[in-house]
Amino acid sequence: MNAPSRQPLWWDGALSLPRPALAGDLDVDVCIVGGGFSGLWTARELLRRDSSLRVAILEARTCGFGASGRNGGWASALFPASAAQVLDLVGFDGERHLTATLRAAVGDLGDALAHDGIDAHFRHGGTITFATTDAQRERLRAEVEAAHERGDDDGDITWLSATELAQSHGHVDGQRGGIFDAHCAAIHPYLAVTGLTDAVERAGGRIFDNSPVTRIVPAHGSRRAAAITVAGTVRADIVVRATEGFSTQFTGARRDVVPVYSLMVATEPQSDEFWSTHGLATGETFADGRHLIIYGQRTRDNRLAFGGRGAPYHFGSSVEPRFDNSVRVTSLLGDALRQLFPTLAGELTHSWGGPLALPRNHLPFVTLDHRRGLAALGGYTGDGVVMSYLAARSLAALIAGDADEISDVERLVFVQRPPRKWEMEPLRWLGINTGLWLAGRADAREHATGSPAPYDRWLERLLG
Ligand SMILES: Cc1cc2nc3c(=O)[nH]c(=O)nc-3n(C[C@H](O)[C@H](O)[C@H](O)COP(=O)(O)OP(=O)(O)OC[C@H]3O[C@@H](n4cnc5c(N)ncnc54)[C@H](O)[C@@H]3O)c2cc1C
Repeated sequence: MNAPSRQPLWWDGALSLPRPALAGDLDVDVCIVGGGFSGLWTARELLRRDSSLRVAILEARTCGFGASGRNGGWASALFPASAAQVLDLVGFDGERHLTATLRAAVGDLGDALAHDGIDAHFRHGGTITFATTDAQRERLRAEVEAAHERGDDDGDITWLSATELAQSHGHVDGQRGGIFDAHCAAIHPYLAVTGLTDAVERAGGRIFDNSPVTRIVPAHGSRRAAAITVAGTVRADIVVRATEGFSTQFTGARRDVVPVYSLMVATEPQSDEFWSTHGLATGETFADGRHLIIYGQRTRDNRLAFGGRGAPYHFGSSVEPRFDNSVRVTSLLGDALRQLFPTLAGELTHSWGGPLALPRNHLPFVTLDHRRGLAALGGYTGDGVVMSYLAARSLAALIAGDADEISDVERLVFVQRPPRKWEMEPLRWLGINTGLWLAGRADAREHATGSPAPYDRWLERLLG
């Protein structure tokens, strides 16, 4: 048996040459730290509004090195915080506005990619959450009912029986029906990143790879804000921090988010016979209703790309390349895949992972402080593909300063609401790893007995 490649499937045959590193000082209007979706979309959106703007991106490695080049490719309208939490913060109209904006953003993202001539295999096929235990079925049905009470209809989100799902969208072993949500597309994330990198350059942005920023310094008096690297300093009216799971290295941001690892595997291409049973023919992404999230998509070349949480949180919010792989989690993912797709052929060809950013209150954030010349965006947990696009569009609107656009953007719950700080260690480590352990236990119990764990509701609140 061959060991799987430890690089993302998405990088196969798609790696682009690094851009030259920063060499010397530079003056720009906006300097962006981090070349993932957040940084690249911010640059793209700023330059779309004003092509004369001087925009530079400083990337520690190469664009797409972080979560943006490694993720599951769900371009979904999911929001990391629960609907109840959003309702508490911004009321019914605010929740509806957020939901409608996110749903529209799925299609907008596809249009924006198409506009720049980027073929990232965008397929707007919706998403299925299969119920694979009775407890999951009850929970998922309640989710659909709650969504309908808030005003969604069957065209947005609907419950389908096992037969209906298998006939119309997809099938996994042991499914007892599930949710079909129309607001999701599947993409090849790394093709989106590389296409976007080229588009930013064509629009006049400057990109510097292998240029890690060691410090971000706010504006003070007549001195502009700055991003400092060992090879030079970039001064700007606004320095944007777009470093998501890597953000804890920056003073002042150490407890804004915690890096949590999500890991993935890919299979060999599967046969026509396999797909005639399992469907997913129009780009439907899929998950099931377990607590410890799993997610998958059928790729354009007929593989399964499949991921899940379950890797531990590492003490002190540390981020290290060796955490991108875990033999234990890869084996769990392989087992979960074979349970859902028992006729799966061949070996796992790839296994990889990366850090995403979990904010304390589950709320992503877009902040801009004109006086200090600082901005930041992130905190998307595992829902960052569309959220980073929407966050970047919102930040570009705030920076560009069009009053009408700003008042619309400021209605979004994540705009100008700085993240709540996480607890100090060892509380963080204890809390997060206990939550992950309980989630795994609850899933095992549900699988064995069909009934929910006694701490089910508490877990729902904890995991958001
Ligand atoms: C395995 C996995 C699966 C996921 N699946 C999905 C999914 O299916 N759907 C979904 O919506 N979301 C998913 N996510 C989350 C999503 O990928 C992220 O939320 C999103 O890509 C974040 O984009 P970003 O640009 O903010 O951060 P990143 O893509 O992480 O980019 C941050 C960049 O900053 C750079 N950087 C770090 N430090 C510095 C420094 N000092 N100086 C300069 N640059 C620096 C990094 O090298 C990196 O390129 C997943 C995440 C992971 C890890």
